[in-house]
Amino acid sequence: MTGTEPVVPDFQALAQPGVQRLRAYDPGHDLVALRREYSGSFLVELGSNENSHGPSPRAREAVLDVINELHRYPDPLGGDLKLTLASYHGLDTAQILLGNGSHELLMMLAQVFAGPGLDVVAARYGFAVYALAAQAAGANLRLADALPKEHAMSRGHDLTALAAQVGPDTRLVYVANPNNPTGTWFSSEALEHFLEAIPPQVLVVVDEAYHEYVTDPAVASALLLMERFPNLVVARTFSKGYALAGLRVGFIAAHPELVAVMERVRESFNVNGLALAAARAALYDQDHLDWVRERNTEERELLARQLRERGLFVPESQTNFLLVDFGREAAPLEAALVQRGVVPRPMVGYGLPTCLRITVGNRDENRRLLQALDEVLA
Ligand SMILES: *Cc1c(COP(=O)(O)O)cnc(C)c1O
Repeated sequence: MTGTEPVVPDFQALAQPGVQRLRAYDPGHDLVALRREYSGSFLVELGSNENSHGPSPRAREAVLDVINELHRYPDPLGGDLKLTLASYHGLDTAQILLGNGSHELLMMLAQVFAGPGLDVVAARYGFAVYALAAQAAGANLRLADALPKEHAMSRGHDLTALAAQVGPDTRLVYVANPNNPTGTWFSSEALEHFLEAIPPQVLVVVDEAYHEYVTDPAVASALLLMERFPNLVVARTFSKGYALAGLRVGFIAAHPELVAVMERVRESFNVNGLALAAARAALYDQDHLDWVRERNTEERELLARQLRERGLFVPESQTNFLLVDFGREAAPLEAALVQRGVVPRPMVGYGLPTCLRITVGNRDENRRLLQALDEVLA
């Protein structure tokens, strides 16, 4: 013992400027603590847009098949999954970059293509990760206004406003179709017009995390536009429609040369062996995905109707969640719901303090949600 206290560095000041300004991603409620508190009783988890219908049984089998290989590193290239993805989506394997969830890839895009002195464009009421990615890279975030609340695509992307934010220093534009947390969407035709308005050296990232839930025939995947627009990057995940959120696997599809540049910063073995096997098996089971989509559509429309009957503002959604506007501060309602074992996602961080984002669960979960809501609103 010397008697002098060790000097604790000022870590905040040591962080690079972009990170100094950053706040960590808010994953919503502490579900581990809530599960402990509610152990033995039924907790209705509707805060993270997880898929209550579960993954393909084939994905579970595929995981069991590799469970004896836990001492091995996974395939560093994820070759089998890339081949399956390439054949399913009509891509070349060189156009695919796999990620430990698509969140990782959205961050990497900004790390590689943005930075201090450069702009990243995203939309108000867009997915929180885009702002995080831009700021972590030290880039300047330019937020485009969203469509008004009263619009049919309530608070959704205004593609004209987005294009107007693109300037000479813009390197990346992030859009989600459908969007989280609004549930809104835009047509393939609208996307095409948008892409025509964007200079070819600006990368446009179209995040299709909820594409598997889409039923509107006006929306085809942006993957079909990749040949025409080499600056287009399409992000997909196995966390939502494929119900593999616990395994962490997603991918981007882009020009092979963009993928090659991003490969330089990809961590080795970033996608684990269980995830590689499960994702591949899930892709092969499109019948299961169709079943999930049908279940979700039916439950979403029913739940939306039931919420509207209670006088709440619930815009249309093409996803597995609803953005519910209570027309008054939602925090007390939300606390009362959590007290009753129902967990939605607060929207204060998105600048929507009167809203909660509620995942469409299975029939039983939705019924419990409505039951709790009726008590809370009474
Ligand atoms: C859930 C979600 C993702 C997917 O995240 P993962 O890291 O793949 O689990 C990406 N974008 C949006 C808009 C999402 O809502």
